[in-house]
Amino acid sequence: MSHYSIRCRKCGNTLKKAYCAFCDHCTDSLLLTEYQDHRFVEGDGDGVWRFNWLPVHEPASVQPGPLVYRSHGLAGQLGLEQLFIAFNGYWPEKGALLETCTFKEFEAAVVLQNARENGIKGLIVASAGNTARAFAHLSAITGFPVIIVVPRMCLGEMWYLENASPVPTLAVGDGDYSDSIDVAKRIALTTGFPFEGGVKNIAKRDGLGIVMLEAVSKIGRLPDHYVQAVGSGTGAIGGWEMAERFIRDGRFGTRLPKLHLGQNLPFAPMMHAWDKGSRSLFPEDLNPELISLITTRVLSTRYPAYSVQGGVFDALTVSGGGMYGVQNEAVYAGMADFLAAEGIDLVPASGVAVAVLKDAVQKGAIRKSDTVLLNITGGGEARLRKDKPTHLVIPQFLSKNATEKDIEDLLCHYLKKSL
Ligand SMILES: [Zn+2]
Repeated sequence: MSHYSIRCRKCGNTLKKAYCAFCDHCTDSLLLTEYQDHRFVEGDGDGVWRFNWLPVHEPASVQPGPLVYRSHGLAGQLGLEQLFIAFNGYWPEKGALLETCTFKEFEAAVVLQNARENGIKGLIVASAGNTARAFAHLSAITGFPVIIVVPRMCLGEMWYLENASPVPTLAVGDGDYSDSIDVAKRIALTTGFPFEGGVKNIAKRDGLGIVMLEAVSKIGRLPDHYVQAVGSGTGAIGGWEMAERFIRDGRFGTRLPKLHLGQNLPFAPMMHAWDKGSRSLFPEDLNPELISLITTRVLSTRYPAYSVQGGVFDALTVSGGGMYGVQNEAVYAGMADFLAAEGIDLVPASGVAVAVLKDAVQKGAIRKSDTVLLNITGGGEARLRKDKPTHLVIPQFLSKNATEKDIEDLLCHYLKKSL
């Protein structure tokens, strides 16, 4: 018997069979994984599979977790007494072993295992960069078929661990991340492999929530504050959902961590909506031209999980959190500060998170004695390159207006060539 079921956050219905879906009645509310065991349990073994709150039964791969440690360097600079850093990346001297250098590796590991156990034969994944690398790596390791769709504008920042990756990668030449999501959905219809589902996929959110599991395991309680850079917001929602489970458990605190979430200005649709007290995003804040002006393309989705029930708006509201806008210069300063204070390089999105933390402390939204969890969602790329070569992504190109025939031709060509 399964140790979890799937429940609708809005109407409370339990669904027998649901994969990346909404409830039958409620098309505007996320489904939640309900674990039968309300107590947080860590089993034997290494890595993330020791946690009981993951929607998998028999994991096929070894998966290292986040490194959570108490900061002295950055904490000292900011005057914080209880700053904990969840470092998701490569920093072997400290015990951080994610060679893809991103917390999306947890998402990929849990999503692929959950898909396999649901009888899914392959998945279509849309990505602005780091998710692609994580899925390509896990697909190569586990042999689970994945087709990846990325926007051309993100290729400059993309790399794979595997040379000549066997994972088909298609680049949308004339569109952004959101166009890639649209194309990925069309490829799903053509191939019969499902689209990985974005925020609707419970395995994705629970996988990203591993950061909260590891943090509470290390700290012994829920933090007062949780700080992260957000693109779709899926990682922050995953952290919030795990925090709700810890409150239900009862042994780790009674209050949700306040979410302090950051976006890179001038593309910050969730921040602008939140500032106006709006559950809906505004079209002028979703202008694709703004995306070319930000340094963190991985945060560039025009389809964030903000308005949906159980999404970012709700998570901010019930946690008493807030949104922050971060200019490019502050992103670079955050990266430099972290390198100087903690001794490891960050990706730009993590620079956003560091800038948010500084801002929240300056504004008094975070007090010196509060327990803070800073989610460093990616880092150690420069450190990795000292140990291992990384490789350019060599995709096949297609248009955002590609027809079904175009997609079929391209995949036939690609699969013949690469498999
Ligand atoms: Zn429902």
